[in-house]
Amino acid sequence: MGKTANFDCDILIVGGGINGAGIARDASGRGYSVILAEMNDLASGTSSASTKLIHGGLRYLEHYEFRLVREALIEREILWNIAPHIIHPLRFVLPHHRGLRPAWLLRLGLFLYDHLGGRKLLPPTRTLNLRQHESGTPLRDSFVRGFEYSDAWVQDARLVVLNARDAADRGAEILTRTRVVGLERRDGAFEATLEDDAGQARKVRARLVINAAGPWVDSVLGLATGTSQSNVRLVQGSHIVVRRLYAHDRAYIFQNADNRIIFAIPYEGEFTLIGTTDRDYRDDPSQVVITEAEVDYLLTSASEYFKRPVTHADLVWSYSGVRPLYDDGASQAQQATRDYVLKLDRPDGGAPLINIFGGKITTYRRLAESALKLIEQQLGARGTAWTSTQPLPGGDFPLREMDQLVVALQQRAPSVPINALRRLSRAYGTLAYDILGPGGSLGEMIGGGLGTNEVDFLIEREWAAVPDDVLWRRSKLGLHLSEDEQLRLAAYMTQALAKREPTSIKPLSDASSKETLSHD
Ligand code: FAD
Repeated sequence: MGKTANFDCDILIVGGGINGAGIARDASGRGYSVILAEMNDLASGTSSASTKLIHGGLRYLEHYEFRLVREALIEREILWNIAPHIIHPLRFVLPHHRGLRPAWLLRLGLFLYDHLGGRKLLPPTRTLNLRQHESGTPLRDSFVRGFEYSDAWVQDARLVVLNARDAADRGAEILTRTRVVGLERRDGAFEATLEDDAGQARKVRARLVINAAGPWVDSVLGLATGTSQSNVRLVQGSHIVVRRLYAHDRAYIFQNADNRIIFAIPYEGEFTLIGTTDRDYRDDPSQVVITEAEVDYLLTSASEYFKRPVTHADLVWSYSGVRPLYDDGASQAQQATRDYVLKLDRPDGGAPLINIFGGKITTYRRLAESALKLIEQQLGARGTAWTSTQPLPGGDFPLREMDQLVVALQQRAPSVPINALRRLSRAYGTLAYDILGPGGSLGEMIGGGLGTNEVDFLIEREWAAVPDDVLWRRSKLGLHLSEDEQLRLAAYMTQALAKREPTSIKPLSDASSKETLSHD
């Protein structure tokens, strides 16, 4: 006779970044019951601090990471297809810098990049005469030749939220502002202690735990093992946002004399995003901020290329994140592998814990599929892989038909400015209809094209709880709203949240949420 145990869920996921949310979506779509606990807001960790590229990673070719590059290249068009609202193709200009990598080497790298796999819709590389091409205009005259190639852009934090939303629509319970503070193996299961922002503690029994805590992965592993762990190398990366440096719509990839590269990317209409840096980081990941040395490095590196030097006076905003890279013993931060590693921890047949180390936004869906293979081995198979073809919420419209969506929205809401409708289409896709409502209005206006209908939607459907969730993660309206408008948003959210029923996870005594399983 085996023992019988009650479970609150098959899988408890610790961490609501891209990897936790991606696994929650895949697993709940296959029929596993899932609870995801995120100690802060969704994507409040590394997943909102990326360069926001869905890319193969041209630079990783130099480190012979062919497996990673090929997988990531293939993912570009898959992800674009399932999320055509928040992902769009972007052309990159790589100027040839005399004295750095020779032109033939760049051409060879780009040839591989074009042919390693997966490029069916994105246009191939071409050579540019920068003297005659508009992308040469803002650059110094010494840059004569360049190459233009394809990758894609993503609203990183929205990708996380849409995965979580889809997981919830398929039955997962998504708990934001809920920290996992204890993980104990007991009677063949995990008993986890969760604590929410209000200090309320709950116990959750799970058959399996996924540790997708990103930069905190070692401390969560320590909760389960009771020992201190060091599997990840924390590498800080920072970005600066400056007033728009040029008018065209391409991004640049610049090589630096230190062998690194930086990007300059059109950002939020009025700005240019410049990043990133790579420096080893040893402090609390939640306290990471850009250093003066990083700002100087980015300004100097960009000014090496742009005719008009980029200075402190151009700075508008900055952000910083910590890469949780799998520690492969590389000597330099920039050389540490960007690939992911999944490790199963199951001592003496105890409950399984799957730890996620490393990974890219670009490869999150494949990482989730790999995690599901391990889950199947532990819990038994349910459904098959499905996420490569099913659109994320709002992404159920054909590629390249964004303009048609905007026109259709305009018919529903003729009085709403076209720029506001464009932003809504890019953020919500076909779900923008839900924000406009039958009357075609945005509600009471707060500022920068943000109306109360959208804020209500973000609270009801996307777990927004404080103004920063709306301003810096569900959107980047923080760059566009005045201080007064931000205060108005805060006042509206306080009022709207006060009217809502508090949501929390069901307590253990709720028998209807339990599943009884026998182990023979
Ligand atoms: P995170 O997003 O950090 O999520 C982990 C979550 O776990 C956090 O939200 C945290 O709050 C939560 N958590 C931790 N402990 C607990 C606990 N005890 N209880 C509950 N919750 C907990 N990738 C790309 O593909 N393209 C790029 O252009 C790109 N650029 C990058 C640029 C920079 C500067 C950096 C830093 C990374 C970049 N990446 C890029 C990599 C990518 O951003 C990361 O690999 C990815 O976001 C990691 O996601 P994650 O889910 O593992 O971690």
